[in-house]
Order: sequence, then C-alpha cells, then structure tokens
Amino acid sequence: MPRKLIGITCETTLKAGLESARQALPRPYVWAIEKAGGVPILLPATTAIENAERYLSVLDGLLLSGGVDVDPACYGEEPHPELGRVDSDRDAIEIPLAQLALAQDMPIFAICRGIQVLNVAMGGTLYQDLPTQKPSHLQHQQRHDGVPRDTATHTIRIEAASRLAEIVGDTCMATNSFHHQALKAVAQGLVVTAHAEDGIIEGVESTAHRYVLGVQFHPEETAFVDEKSMRLFEAFVTAL
Ligand code: MN
Repeated sequence: MPRKLIGITCETTLKAGLESARQALPRPYVWAIEKAGGVPILLPATTAIENAERYLSVLDGLLLSGGVDVDPACYGEEPHPELGRVDSDRDAIEIPLAQLALAQDMPIFAICRGIQVLNVAMGGTLYQDLPTQKPSHLQHQQRHDGVPRDTATHTIRIEAASRLAEIVGDTCMATNSFHHQALKAVAQGLVVTAHAEDGIIEGVESTAHRYVLGVQFHPEETAFVDEKSMRLFEAFVTAL
C-alpha cells in the first residue's frame, strides 16, 4: 500500500531585513510524520477556497500545525488589547480546510494553534490572552522561562474513555506548553478529553468523525524523546 499523504499547514514568517516573508514549517512536524510512516506535504496559505478543496482532493489526512494567534474576528469578537500577532492568510485557508475535511470525514490531527482553528471552524471561541483572561500558576508559554521545546513543563489529565487515553495508554501525560491562547467555548461536536491542572483545555476529539483529534501541546517537539508523543503521530497515520 502506498504511504499516505498528510497535508501540513504552514505559517507565515515576518519579513526580515531584505528577505521576503516566508511560508514555513518547523522541522519536527515533518520528522514526526515521516517517522510514523506518512508522507508530509506542506500546504502554504492561499486565500482561495477552491485551493482548499483542491488540497484535500489529493490528501489522505490533514495536520493543522501550530503558530500565531487566531484573529478573533473569525469567531465574532473584538480584539483584546493583548492579542498577539495574527496571520489572516492562514485563518482564511485553515478554517475552510478544516470545515471541508470535517465534511468529507477526512482524518484531522490538530496541534496547538491547530486545536484552536479546529474549535473556531466548528463554531467555538478562544481566550485571546491567557495571562489576563485566565491567570494561572502554570506557565503555558514556557519560552518565557527559556525551557527547551522538547522539555515537559506541566502535566495533563486525560479522560479515561477517550481516544487520546487509548493512544497514549495513560490518563496522565507530561507535556510541553507553548500557547498564548486556549479554547473558551468548546464547539458543539467536540468532546474535551484533557485538561491542565488549572482547567485549561489541552485535548479535544470528535466522536462523530472517523478521526478528529486536537491537542494544545506540541507532541512533534517531544516525539524524539517521548514515546507517548510519538504514538500520537503513529495513531494518526494508522487511521488514514
Ligand atoms: Mn499548556
């Protein structure tokens, strides 16, 4: 059987000096998908919905990757003063991509910004700025402490009766944390499967679809060193 094709959405980097802005993807996503047996295909942001349809027509699965904040206009809110950088081109392609993939029952693995895009695409909302809107003793943005990306900084509690628990083989997991935003109102159709100790949602899935799983942490960064993280990629590729 040919290896499955997994589309991974890209981020837009800022223009730096004489360089143009770039559409890029951190290397660990590609590594983790390859290691799990899939073929990664990078999906640059374009603004035509027809392109979203065409992308999906050649893919077996969709990985919504991490990145900057989602524009609150996407879920009908005014921007909070502490809203971070947004990438409107990305919002414009990722939301229809997620909706079309859901309509086709194409498997989706949504990571960090990806879980947020998935929630917004299904009608949910986000905390725009966790430090002011949901203050916590946990550091959900570990770069502020200079902790490496492959190092876990908080644990999550996983619902026993969930696909996530089945995949990682446990109801507890130590995760890294690099998110400025998080799920607020959870979209109808998504079930919360994991929380941090402070109540922040760290995992969701859909029981109405073949395979729709979202996590707020970055398993691609820990898959090198953590078996549970690697299993998330293996389970996704196996589901295609
Ligand atoms: Mn977190």
